Amino acid sequence: MAAKVLDGKVVAAAVLDETRERVEALDQRGIVPALATVLVGADPASQSYVGSKRRRAGEVGIRSVHQEIGADASQDQVHDTLHRLNRDPEIDGILLQLPLPEGLDGERATLEIDPAKDVDGLHPTNLGLIVLDRPGLVPNTPAGCLRILDYYDIPIRGANVVVVGRSFLVGRPLALLLAARGADATVTITHSRTKDLAGIARRADIVVAAIGRPGMITPEFIRPGATVIDVGINRVDGKLVGDVDHDSVSEIAGAITPVPGGVGPMTVAMLMRNTAIAAEMRH
Ligand code: NAP
Repeated sequence: MAAKVLDGKVVAAAVLDETRERVEALDQRGIVPALATVLVGADPASQSYVGSKRRRAGEVGIRSVHQEIGADASQDQVHDTLHRLNRDPEIDGILLQLPLPEGLDGERATLEIDPAKDVDGLHPTNLGLIVLDRPGLVPNTPAGCLRILDYYDIPIRGANVVVVGRSFLVGRPLALLLAARGADATVTITHSRTKDLAGIARRADIVVAAIGRPGMITPEFIRPGATVIDVGINRVDGKLVGDVDHDSVSEIAGAITPVPGGVGPMTVAMLMRNTAIAAEMRH
């Protein structure tokens, strides 16, 4: 039987509705949450990502303020812009679109963002709060994966979850969130040096693929009936594909996210949610 499709667009719409309500509640107190998007250089993919984030912001009533910096800017110039936005009382969230152009260090720049305005959740303070199991601004893609599981009532407590990929952006924070008190999954983090990855993944109730290798997860990695969350976004022959070989894995999995239309829309929706939360925390 074909796997149930976990439609990220449906879940994202629910998150955006909920965010709109939070924004309206702030509005009644005279507060309009504002998101500053910072784009360095003119990479077309980055331009398009920033554009879609600004459109979503508008749809939920978040004001967006856009800052463009030339690709020839120095690291200090990027930091200066971030410092100015940190000080600006009108700004609740700052989104620095990564990666930065050649020669600039995105990780160093992220350190300059006020953690209270770090709506991407990638500042070490916010990542550290995950380690401490305390509330903070959670990175959007991992938060989006959890929300999909929750929306479709896929049990996490006590489940064996295998996360493939250990990046600071997705794999590692997601593994910690899944293993946190309250979520209570038993999590295995795997990576390019893992031995017998297929054998390990095949024991999991839930497999999350955050690898960046098109179609790497095939049916031999999946226990029949398991849930598969495909975080990967890869462009192959002009088409977007995930890290999971969707068609063959759909034959065996119990539930699966598509690409596009799975985790992708969740990332932007959770960014809007984080912006509303940042505004609530600041006021
Ligand atoms: P990344 O920083 O490149 O990390 C990739 C991880 O995959 C690394 O931990 C790497 O292991 C592991 N890996 C690579 N080859 C492997 C293999 N053959 N077997 C097992 N593990 C392997 O990538 P990322 O930023 O986490 O992104 C991963 C994917 O998710 C990409 O396709 C990206 O475009 C996508 N993504 C999607 C969203 C979204 O909104 N849906 C958001 C962010 C990222 P090592 O650590 O050993 O190198």
